[in-house]
Amino acid sequence: AAKANGRNCLKVFDPEDPQHGDESENIAAILRIALEQRLVSLVYQPIRNVQTGALDGAEALMRMKMPDGTSIMPGTFIPVAERTGAIIELGRWAIRTVCKEMLATNKVKVASVNVSPSELKMPGFSTYVAATLAEYGLVGTRLAFEITEGVELDVDTDVVRCISELKRLGVQIWLDDFGTGFAGLSWLRMIEFDTVKIDRSFLHDCETERGRRMMRDIISLLRHRGLRILVEGVETAEQGTLMHRYGIDQIQGYHVGRPEPARRFGNLGWLPSPAAAGLSSA
Ligand code: C2E
Ligand code: MG
Ligand code: MG
Ligand code: MG
Repeated sequence: AAKANGRNCLKVFDPEDPQHGDESENIAAILRIALEQRLVSLVYQPIRNVQTGALDGAEALMRMKMPDGTSIMPGTFIPVAERTGAIIELGRWAIRTVCKEMLATNKVKVASVNVSPSELKMPGFSTYVAATLAEYGLVGTRLAFEITEGVELDVDTDVVRCISELKRLGVQIWLDDFGTGFAGLSWLRMIEFDTVKIDRSFLHDCETERGRRMMRDIISLLRHRGLRILVEGVETAEQGTLMHRYGIDQIQGYHVGRPEPARRFGNLGWLPSPAAAGLSSA
């Protein structure tokens, strides 16, 4: 049975387990078949501008459908894909799909894709990105990569080089889940991020004065560094209003927009109005 605490938790991947290698290969093969049979798809969560309420962009989130119709969430299969190496193929598929179904069709101005450390370390990553952008006639500034603080990433010379190659293409680099790991502050010294996404746990803490003071301190730190600030996990109109008051640039969350398939971005009738999102004083 799997342990209950999130990432890297499946017992089948215990490296001490003699069957570990076989299991990993099986799951890598399953992921590859899922990709070929179009059981993998992307949904996109809106990113709203706090001051204008406008749709600034969207974040691509992966979904995997099982043959019986049930969905598997990325928290379950991404760690598996990372361990087996299948993430490289999945990641390339995601980048290409975002360019094709969201950017080339002008459904949003900017779309972000989550990337895993192994993708950034893979030689040829930026070359793949450049070729894909060129294939769809897109400028790099419309694409962003989110690097989560929640994973172990050794920011070595390979990673720094990869990121500077991406930045030379104009591609944006965002820091995801800021405040959840230990590396965030040191990454801010080493990597020129465009946007920092403050983890939703800090927003939930805003119910207390102590939590609100923490949020204001984080905002002031990021502001002094000239970074664009996005807050994740906005679930109520009150939280939207508070973020407006704090001068946050962008928000994301179930209350301001659920993740939806690309086709739903053709007509935004389903997107809550700025007022409903708590941004009425904008
Ligand atoms: P993330 O990048 O931090 O994405 C935000 C997660 O929070 C998403 O879960 C989203 O559905 C959820 N969320 C959004 N708004 C709210 C809210 O208001 N309240 C709550 N409680 N949750 C909210 P999801 O889709 O299950 O993704 C989980 C994680 O899996 C992502 O976290 C990301 O790190 C990873 N992931 C997803 N797609 C990909 C991918 O294509 N590649 C890689 N490498 N990782 C991915
Ligand atoms: Mg993300
Ligand atoms: Mg996030
Ligand atoms: Mg998060």
